[in-house]
Formats: sequence, structure tokens, C-alpha cells
Amino acid sequence: MTLPELQDAAGGAGAPLDDAALAAKKAKKHAFEMNKLSKRLHRQVGEAVTDFNMIEDGDKIMVCLSGGKDSYALLDILMNLRERAPVKFDLVAVNLDQKQPGFPAHILPEYLAKVGAPFHIENQDTYSIVKKHIPEGATMCSLCSRLRRGILYRVAGELGATKIALGHHRDDIIVTMMMNMFFGGRLKGMPAKLVSDDGRHTVIRPLAYVAETDLETWAVHRQYPIIPCSLCGSQENLQRANIKAQLREWEKQYPGRSDNMLRAMGHITPSHMMDRNLYPFTSIQPTGTPDPTGDKAFDHDDDHDEAADDCGTPKAQTIRILRD
Ligand code: SF4
Repeated sequence: MTLPELQDAAGGAGAPLDDAALAAKKAKKHAFEMNKLSKRLHRQVGEAVTDFNMIEDGDKIMVCLSGGKDSYALLDILMNLRERAPVKFDLVAVNLDQKQPGFPAHILPEYLAKVGAPFHIENQDTYSIVKKHIPEGATMCSLCSRLRRGILYRVAGELGATKIALGHHRDDIIVTMMMNMFFGGRLKGMPAKLVSDDGRHTVIRPLAYVAETDLETWAVHRQYPIIPCSLCGSQENLQRANIKAQLREWEKQYPGRSDNMLRAMGHITPSHMMDRNLYPFTSIQPTGTPDPTGDKAFDHDDDHDEAADDCGTPKAQTIRILRD
């Protein structure tokens, strides 16, 4: 029954809605929101794939599946895109069962069989190796990830995969960049596409443009059988968690900030940074020819009319002063 029909049944369009009508209205709104979210997710993944030429004709993409929301969404969206993509490619989902205590090994094979995804489960007890080599209380993630990476590269070779897809999203990329800035003194993020350290594989991150909050909502909507990520007993890096919380807070206060930060990673002006390897600061000389794009030396290079100059004067006011 449609909403107007429900309202008629309840005594006309102006009459208060009863519980059933309210539930129907809520369900309709939810379906509308989920349809919008689905379109956004598929569009953003499609854009990232195109922008970075992530998938080519004949590719076999190995999708790394951990049992978390991000990798489920990655596989789900790639399966949908595969149906309508202009290029032909294959997918194979791979899960590495690291033999962590309590890992529910049946969940992923059952899910993958249900959705009709070709898959491979690799059983390797990296948990025992890590436990043996890392003292109690110390962080295990570095060795664990190194072992996992090596195994996944080997499996990709064995399966004949041409690309390895990982489920990192926009917020992972931004947080990594901030971590590297704050603690590593480097402007270095997490690439959307890279060649693996062993030089043999191409790694892609098709969720690079996707917000984590969208993935959270999508995971609930799609009812993914999530496997908790705390089975190894390791805690999330505290600094990483703090930066992530700060990012969410900013996004609430200034919607669009995270997207801007991601966009900034793709629009770098080496002449306005400080890396002498990227720009020949030591050898630049006046050319004697005016630059048609203006005097960049005193330019804040921002898009905000209200942005302030060094002295604190709003930029728009400075322009007015200069003009008058
Ligand atoms: S959280 Fe656990 S499973 Fe993940 S990398 Fe760290 S030690 Fe390994």
C-alpha cells in the first residue's frame, strides 16, 4: 500500500498516521536513503577505479577479505560493478585464516557460497608465530602484517591474480597521512594504487574515495556477517584512534573537510612545499618574464574569500585595499 492510500485508509491525507502508516513511511524513507547510499558508493568506487586505471580488461582481481565491514563492502560493490563494467574482469575473494583463537572459520565460506563469489581460504597459523616472537604486551601488528602481506602475495601468484584489492577507505588514507606527518615527519599517505614491495603485484584500493561512516551504514543495511577484529587481542594504535576521532569531530563541525583533505592529496604544488627533491629551490632564478597566473609568492593559494593574510586581515579586505 502506498503512503497516500494508507492516509486515505486512516481517514484522509490530513488525518494523523497510525502505527502501521508511520512504519510504512519510515520504511519508505529508509529504502530511499539506502538507494541513495548505494548509488553514491558505486559511483565513488567507479570514479576511483577510473581515475587510477585500477582495473583493465582481462584482469583477475584478488579481493582480500578479512570479515570486516570494509572488505565485505569492497567485494560486494566490485561484484555489482563487474556486471555492468565496460571491461571484462574476474574476481576471487581470498581470506587468510591466521588461526586466531575463536576465529569462526565457517562464516566466510558460507557467506561467499551464498553470494556466489569464487573464493579461496588460505590457512596459515601466523598467530602462533607472532605470539612466539613478540613479548607479551608488545604490539604484534607490525610482524603480523608483514607475515600476512608475504602470504597474500604468494597466494596472488598461485591464483594467477593480476591485481590485489584491499578495503582501505578514505578515512584510512587521511589518518595515515596525518600519522606520518605528526609522528614520522613525512607527507606520505596511503596510495590508491601501488606496485608491491616485491615488485611483482599491483595493489589497488577501490574504496579510496569512500567515507567510513557510509561503509558502516552499508554494512548494517547489507547484513554482512561481521567477524570481530579483536580476536588477536591487539589494541588499535591509540594515536591512530585519536586522530580518527578528531577527523570525525571535524567532519561533524565542518562537513566536507575530510573530502577536502583527500582532494588536497591529489593537488600538490611542489613549488609551495619544502621538499628540495621535488622542486629545484636552490637553482631557481628570475626569468624576467611576468607569470600570467599572477604573483604566487604572496598568494595564500586558497579558495576562501574570507581567508586571512599573514597580518590577519581578511583576504577580501586586502584585495579591496590594494584596489582602492
Ligand atoms: S590487529 Fe591483530 S590481526 Fe590485525 S595486524 Fe594487528 S596483530 Fe594482526
